[in-house]
Amino acid sequence: METIGLIGGMSFESSAVYYRLVNEMVRARRSGLASAELILHSVNFEEIVALQKAGDWAGAARRLGDVAERLQAAGAGCILICTNTMHLIADEVAAKVSVPLIHIIDETAKSLHAAGRKRPLLLATRYTMEHGFYAERMKSLGLDIMVPEAADRTTVHDIIFNELCAGRVHDRSREKLIDIIDRAVENGADSIILGCTEICLILDPDRLPLPGFDTTTIHARAAVEFSLGGEEEETEEAA
Ligand code: GLU
Repeated sequence: METIGLIGGMSFESSAVYYRLVNEMVRARRSGLASAELILHSVNFEEIVALQKAGDWAGAARRLGDVAERLQAAGAGCILICTNTMHLIADEVAAKVSVPLIHIIDETAKSLHAAGRKRPLLLATRYTMEHGFYAERMKSLGLDIMVPEAADRTTVHDIIFNELCAGRVHDRSREKLIDIIDRAVENGADSIILGCTEICLILDPDRLPLPGFDTTTIHARAAVEFSLGGEEEETEEAA
């Protein structure tokens, strides 16, 4: 089993989900009491949010690149940045290590293709919805993403930062997100990307008006796939 290196803390609410999912998936694959070999380096999110607000993406790249180097030195065989937003600087982080960086956009695109989806609505932070890096990479992978209209983008961004990252999940916010999804259905979306690693805390991807693709689960699954590689799945009987 290869050791998984997680760059987390953005926010810790979603890193906790990654930790649980990766371990549950390894246990399910290996059976018994198997759990993941992983190293989580959790940063102080307040520092990262300050860099985001200042538009200091070079500073953020230096900070997360340093963490990636430390994870590799500690034995990580792959690196995951446990947030969609910070994939804005994924290339810079990947350049600091020789082990692979498992890219959240690439893995999400693979899942969308496997399900035959072509026109997903992206629900994410303002950075992810507006900065271009997400849409451009998806486009290069053959997918044409939609984003909500401006007022709705503000609503989604605020729910993420003011509520989900702060550990608050409100029914009224879930209703607002469903309203945004309903408008996207009318505008021709064929699927929904839960493109922020906290959105799974408020929306169940399997109970939406369109097929949902949860980036946290997709990313965690890709890490486990890397870690266990072609290992045979064990059944309870075989264990
Ligand atoms: N975890 C979120 C994401 O997936 C937002 C937090 C951040 O800005 O990194 O984009």
